[in-house]
Amino acid sequence: MGNVVTALNVSSITSGIPSIKSWRASCNNMLEYESFSVYGFHVVYPTTWKIEFDPKSDRLKGDVAFKSPEKENIFLSWGSLEKAKKRYSSLEEHANDSIDRIKKNPRVRKVETSQTKDTRIQSHKALFSLVKVTFSTPSLLPFTKTKEEVQEVRCMHLHCETSERYYVIYGAIALSKSQEHEAIFNNMMKSFKCHSQ
Ligand SMILES: [Zn+2]
Repeated sequence: MGNVVTALNVSSITSGIPSIKSWRASCNNMLEYESFSVYGFHVVYPTTWKIEFDPKSDRLKGDVAFKSPEKENIFLSWGSLEKAKKRYSSLEEHANDSIDRIKKNPRVRKVETSQTKDTRIQSHKALFSLVKVTFSTPSLLPFTKTKEEVQEVRCMHLHCETSERYYVIYGAIALSKSQEHEAIFNNMMKSFKCHSQ
């Protein structure tokens, strides 16, 4: 939050002259990020995005939504690792179950996993999945075909023994806007810290 206040003060002083930092950021077509940290975990998000923290969240279970000005959201959820381990025999099974849930949406026509990748976050294995989801949108006009829309879903699953929690980072985006969203998702995933040192 301190960063936001500083940025506002600077821009009101320079009145319309972009700071070197934001000029560089726009030249590289890169967004500026700041930190979000709660209950011992940490992630970065673009400074232009809004945070919606589920008020029912506590240390063991909760959700936070990061919302872009265009309402393209990335969600971070956490929950009890003990419960997750009772339900799933592995991280892979946990991730597959999340993907299977997408299929239950009646508007979903097709679900295709394009990529799965193991990565490391702090000392744990994390699983990244990229899934292509085809939705059908019923036409409002009679005798016309239903429209189809393809979205890319990115998700990361992680089991952290140290904090005794599991984490899921999840985002869906229309295929046409996928590139910027991918960069933001990757930055959030790379910056993520599930437990304090
Ligand atoms: Zn951890």
